Amino acid sequence: MNVVSQRVGSSRLPLRAAAFVVLTCVAILSISGWREWAARDPVLKGAETEMANVARSLTQHAEDSLDLLDSGVVGVVSRLEMDGTDLATITKLRSLLEVRKKAIERIHSLAIIDEHGNWLTSPGTIASTLSDDAFFRYHQLSPKREAHIGHTVKSLLDGEWVVTLSRRFNKPDGSFGGVVLAAISSKYLSHFYEQFEIGRNSSVTLMHGDGFIIARNPSNEQFVGRNVGDTPLFRDPSLQPPSGTSHFKSPLDGVERVSFFKRSGRYPFVLLATVDKDELLAPWRAAATSRLLYVLALVMLIAVIGAVLVRQLQRGQHMAAALVEKEAHFRLLAEGSSDMVTRIGLDERLRYVSPSSNRVVGWRANQLIGTPALAGVHPEDLPQVQAIIDAMKRGEKDEARVTYRNVHRQKSEVWLESTMRVTRKDNGSADGVVAISRDITEQKKLETRLETLAIEDSLTGLANRRRFDERLNEEWARAYRDRSSLGLLMIDVDHFKSYNDEYGHPAGDACLRVVAKIIAAEVQRVGDLAARYGGEEFAMLLPNTDAAGCGRIGERIRSAVRDAGLVHASNPVASVTVSVGGAACRPALERTAGTGSLVEVADRALYAAKDAGRDRLMMSGEVMNLLLKASGQ
Ligand code: GH3
Ligand code: MG
Ligand code: MG
Repeated sequence: MNVVSQRVGSSRLPLRAAAFVVLTCVAILSISGWREWAARDPVLKGAETEMANVARSLTQHAEDSLDLLDSGVVGVVSRLEMDGTDLATITKLRSLLEVRKKAIERIHSLAIIDEHGNWLTSPGTIASTLSDDAFFRYHQLSPKREAHIGHTVKSLLDGEWVVTLSRRFNKPDGSFGGVVLAAISSKYLSHFYEQFEIGRNSSVTLMHGDGFIIARNPSNEQFVGRNVGDTPLFRDPSLQPPSGTSHFKSPLDGVERVSFFKRSGRYPFVLLATVDKDELLAPWRAAATSRLLYVLALVMLIAVIGAVLVRQLQRGQHMAAALVEKEAHFRLLAEGSSDMVTRIGLDERLRYVSPSSNRVVGWRANQLIGTPALAGVHPEDLPQVQAIIDAMKRGEKDEARVTYRNVHRQKSEVWLESTMRVTRKDNGSADGVVAISRDITEQKKLETRLETLAIEDSLTGLANRRRFDERLNEEWARAYRDRSSLGLLMIDVDHFKSYNDEYGHPAGDACLRVVAKIIAAEVQRVGDLAARYGGEEFAMLLPNTDAAGCGRIGERIRSAVRDAGLVHASNPVASVTVSVGGAACRPALERTAGTGSLVEVADRALYAAKDAGRDRLMMSGEVMNLLLKASGQ
């Protein structure tokens, strides 16, 4: 469960890493974007402050201009009211006004108009020099004595746009006496505003309180006299305070503008100073764009590096998963196998042992890991196994198979067959050996048993006839080489046919086994061999034994069988007896016909013993003597 959740967890790792990279990129981009956006505010705020300053000082300028005009107008009004409108007064005033007009640049015109609308101050004409006389009608109807600011009108004298400031003067009886008018040129104002260059596309506009444009910079001629009374500046309740900031799209040129408006407290006009927002933000935009491009390049670099790393992580994970799977398969094979799988390091210690070690050598895997791999090998087999391991380490062998005895924890020892193979690192150098070891003890036992079966007589356990013949040949050859004496005894159970007849065949077999045991007990030297020659006849091969020694052993066998006292009623002595024929020869010295002749001579001696009455030993020499005696008789 834990492994599963770990694997699921780790499989999400590349996804998490990718999410982290994306998050980092998004965070960098959004922080940079936010910072750049935040840097835009001070630019706008700065522009607003600048616009406010411009608007305030230009409002002041407009008020001062009108004050200047008004002071002149007020003076003329009081003179007219005191002195009347007779020609002398008018002429005096006219020259005064001319002087004043000349002295003050911003005054476009000064005029006195009588109650009938006649222009008294303009020499040569009494008609209006303005395109509209609305101001005159206003004063005619209104008894108010305050200054009146009229709409922008065109001067008929020079075609210039002017704004008028006028006051009414009364006759001594209080009735309407006429109007004193002063006008200021729109062009003058526009020129004055030109000095306040606040950016390439900035503008300053002076408007009448009801929306008529008095002056504007730039493009004064184009806009002067136009009514913008339906724009938010005049309609929007939020824009009605004495002064404030406004961001709007200009109805005049369709440009987004940042502006500050200021309403005069004393005269009905509004001053609006604006700057082109696009133009204003252009340096900020350029700087921000270049900085953002750098950040974007950085983010792209992070994204690319991140993608490569995530890719590598993914690949690494796939490889790790494949490795885990491979390892799992290997473990499945190693741990499912009944054979013991081990991995031996270059230091000849066990690095891995499969669980079947418990069955194969009796120790659990964890008891073996870290111990010397060859610790349990039988001392006699160790050199052979060590030689193979050494050859593998030297790189002379890649594979080997070896059979050896090994210690088992419970049993004394087991036979193991190990198939070994060198394992290599990626660079080709050997890093150890994998050995698959199998318990072949049973097989070995079977082999040994098969071997003995091939040379052993199944009834008596003595060597069989085949083995006897082999050994006879070998010993004959050895005796020939060593010039030594080779003895042979032939032993035959007396009257055995009648034993069988009397006690049955199984009892006969049992009797033969007892006799065989007695014969085997007489084997004293390593080279001696007791064998069943056939039926109830046995043979004993005695290397390095002369006739006398041979006779002694034969006699011991004979007496031992008799002394065993196996009941045999039909035998004259009532117990089982054997007759023994013996012979000895020195193959190198005697002229004989080989192995066959030795058997023949011994056999003859046996038959002589039978003939002589059984239960006796007869040596071939004695046979000769008997024969000689017989021939002598
Ligand atoms: P002798 O004293 O002359 O040797 O007489 P004998 O009866 O022993 O000789 P013979 O050769 O006539 O008989 C041998 C008998 O031994 C015949 C056979 O029944 C018996 N015999 C041979 N091999 C076996 C055997 O493996 N088991 C048993 N029970 N009897 C055997
Ligand atoms: Mg016999
Ligand atoms: Mg016989």
